[in-house]
Amino acid sequence: MKAHESPVPRVASRLCAMLALSTLVSTSAAPARAATPSGQTIDGISCDRSEGAIFHIHQHVAISVHGKPLEIPSDIGRPIVAQCLYWIHTHAPGGLVHVEAPKFRTFTLGNFFDIWGEPLAATSVSSARVKRGDLHVFVNGRAYRGDPRKIELSQHTDIAIEAGPPYAKPVPFTDWQGQ
Ligand SMILES: [Zn+2]
Repeated sequence: MKAHESPVPRVASRLCAMLALSTLVSTSAAPARAATPSGQTIDGISCDRSEGAIFHIHQHVAISVHGKPLEIPSDIGRPIVAQCLYWIHTHAPGGLVHVEAPKFRTFTLGNFFDIWGEPLAATSVSSARVKRGDLHVFVNGRAYRGDPRKIELSQHTDIAIEAGPPYAKPVPFTDWQGQ
């Protein structure tokens, strides 16, 4: 475990409980979404007590909705209620995604969204809904026209998702912080 990979922070549990409550209230009025996973195995990915040490790679995911950034939060894949850590998770906001697994296997962007508990499809990304054809996806700077859920998470895969116009050529992500 490295310095940036602290265990699930206990001090934050009260705050998170409050946030969870407010999320619960706010989502009741929002469009139907998958529930945020609370420790159950998702897509064959379990939520473990410690981080897997066999397969450790990083990706960056950036989402914009009509040109405005949609923040990817910290602690995706770290359900406070279960005090565990999914093999795909975030440690901080900003879109840096960690795959830390006890074994080698293929991980996809769809797996990441499933663990986040947010939708990803041709016409939706997180809370944004767009017309078919209006979700523009880039992988390592190149336009990607396939199913965004199938984008493979490799070391330093740089993914940009633009929901609706105006569209812009994504700025390459380079701030890997030595990871
Ligand atoms: Zn990491």
